[in-house]
Amino acid sequence: MAQESSDLASQRRLLQSLGFGFIEVPFEPRTDSPAQAAGAPQRVPSPPAAAGPKSRTALPPRTAVPVAPTSPAAAIPADKAGRQAALIEHETSMRGCDRCNLQLVRGQVVPGAGLVDSRLFVIAEVPLAADDAEGSSLNGPIGEMTRKIFAAMKLTPEQVYFTTAVKCRPPEGRPPSTIERRACQPFLARQLQLVQPEVIVTCGSEALAAILPAKAADGLDRVRGRWLEWQRIPVMPTLSLELIHGDQSLKRVVWGDMQAVMKQLGIG
Ligand code: SF4
Repeated sequence: MAQESSDLASQRRLLQSLGFGFIEVPFEPRTDSPAQAAGAPQRVPSPPAAAGPKSRTALPPRTAVPVAPTSPAAAIPADKAGRQAALIEHETSMRGCDRCNLQLVRGQVVPGAGLVDSRLFVIAEVPLAADDAEGSSLNGPIGEMTRKIFAAMKLTPEQVYFTTAVKCRPPEGRPPSTIERRACQPFLARQLQLVQPEVIVTCGSEALAAILPAKAADGLDRVRGRWLEWQRIPVMPTLSLELIHGDQSLKRVVWGDMQAVMKQLGIG
């Protein structure tokens, strides 16, 4: 090391003698591992475990939430059976996730429900309260309402994949933070890649933001009911399920959007 410093000093003197100036830049040694330096995907460290039982209301400051890296696209099996097996494995892998602070307040992870090759892929904003308790999708009154909408669209449960922008319910069902949504986004992206739907419906601005953040930033009012596109798949943005359930007059608006979806799917 002493020899190396001496070499650098003499190179520096030589260059200065030739008229080159220097700007002092403080040297900060790398702290990442060799694997990180090579660009390999790294697991985000979990926040320290909270002492005692989980609190369902107290959240650590958002600035403490690590952002999960977007892992490189894993291989997509070529055949349907392989994709179905990969989807089940993927859903199972979410169950113990600790990528963001919602792990501290959730009841259960709610990965989603459905099969590969579902014609329609529906993204809601956050798990419903009943789903958080059950660890499965579409429970309770809002879940029942949603199933009725699918039935009215002449879609069987096997033809619809349903999931949410984040897989853990935030306290009181509040919108997920940008950090939480981004941490969970790789799960959603892989679900989409494995299911390979014909059409995507996003319910609410947070659901739209999970796949098309720039469009969501324009405001849901500006894009609701208009066809967008995600990786060549048509996307129909509509209202959130909670909003529809709370205001019956909005069902007519949403039904108009769903009729456009049915037309796109060649139904009815
Ligand atoms: S919301 Fe998503 S990223 Fe955050 S803990 Fe739950 S599964 Fe993991």
